[in-house]
Amino acid sequence: MLNIALFGPPGAGKGTQSQFLIEKYKLFYISTGDLLRKEIAEKSRLGLEAQNIIASGGLVPDEIIVQIIEKTITENPDANGFLFDGFPRTYIQAYILDGLMIKLNTSLDCLISLEVPEEVSVKRLLERGATSGRSDDNEKVIRNRLKEYSDKTLPVLNYYQDKGIYHGIDGTESIEKVSLKIGEIIKEELSKSLLNIVLFGYPGSGRGSQGIALAKKFGLEYVATGPMLEHEIRENTEMGKKIIDLYESGNLVPDEIVVQLIEKKLANSKDVKGFIFKGFPRTLVQSYILDGLLRKHGTSISEVIEIEVPTLELIKRLDARSKTDRCMPYDTSTSKIVKRLQEHESKTVPVIEKYNQLHRVVKVDGVGDFEKVFARISSHLESKFKNIG
Ligand code: AMP
Repeated sequence: MLNIALFGPPGAGKGTQSQFLIEKYKLFYISTGDLLRKEIAEKSRLGLEAQNIIASGGLVPDEIIVQIIEKTITENPDANGFLFDGFPRTYIQAYILDGLMIKLNTSLDCLISLEVPEEVSVKRLLERGATSGRSDDNEKVIRNRLKEYSDKTLPVLNYYQDKGIYHGIDGTESIEKVSLKIGEIIKEELSKSLLNIVLFGYPGSGRGSQGIALAKKFGLEYVATGPMLEHEIRENTEMGKKIIDLYESGNLVPDEIVVQLIEKKLANSKDVKGFIFKGFPRTLVQSYILDGLLRKHGTSISEVIEIEVPTLELIKRLDARSKTDRCMPYDTSTSKIVKRLQEHESKTVPVIEKYNQLHRVVKVDGVGDFEKVFARISSHLESKFKNIG
């Protein structure tokens, strides 16, 4: 997701630049002013409450703003990202925006402020007033809106300066020049944000081989807990010895160990474009752990993919593999294979359901040869990230 807030006094050109941003990055546009005007036109309860305040150039109470934004955001979970125009307008609304982003398991990537002197704003708004039909585009109300801006809205910039995501632009330049500068800022921000994919599928669905190939193609770090545990055993580390004991006594490897391994991997992965997780999270508890681990690195899940293969085909594949030298220690008998499939169904399917509500899991047909399935997943990722990249 790419989330941007466009900031600046009334008349700074936020609406104009928004058109360019929506088209270029396929963002969902949220203008609190437009949403309020729509409520007024529909004569809704919120609209009636806001009407007089808007007409006088004051700010509408936060309770109303939260309601209209929350509704719009939750109705559009498939969006590539959101573009906020006219929000946040107060210091309190900056906190509200953070809370809403956390609810979506994402964050605001940057705040772009279009800076124009008061007299330029007044001139532009009076010109717009000649045709806009807006009750608040007349000089008395414009002056009040600008006062509200300098008293209540400008302090919001400190919040984003402290966060390190504030970017100021001279808004008196031509529309094209301002668009160009905005494009450069977003490009830079995007190069900093990571692409994190969680890859799901039943054992035998091809997650491992697809995950490795996808990591290579997209420049991502492949994070697979199974091979990480095996590596510790092979290297005979202290952790490896503990893992062997657990394997031999038939116990599951506890989350503490898995978390330590992933934490180490994330910390040691410098200059990567993102991560692809396979075999983790396996349980609901681990899904919360992953959220925490990613948040610690200032990032979050970008995409969740499930490779779908019919059960009979899975059993055939696992059975065939068990007769080759690629046989895994946990695939040596039918009962072990069935147990793994059951584990997936009882523990991991609820995780996929959780992600389905939060991120919309993309289901990819896993039937066919490796290249065909790889092409399906790749083309999905390319189309998704072409819009943003
Ligand atoms: P705009 O279209 O952004 O210029 O907004 C027009 C009017 O709607 C403002 O002058 C405010 O009265 C109201 N408004 C829009 N967004 C907000 C907000 N985030 N908080 C409070 N009032 C708002």
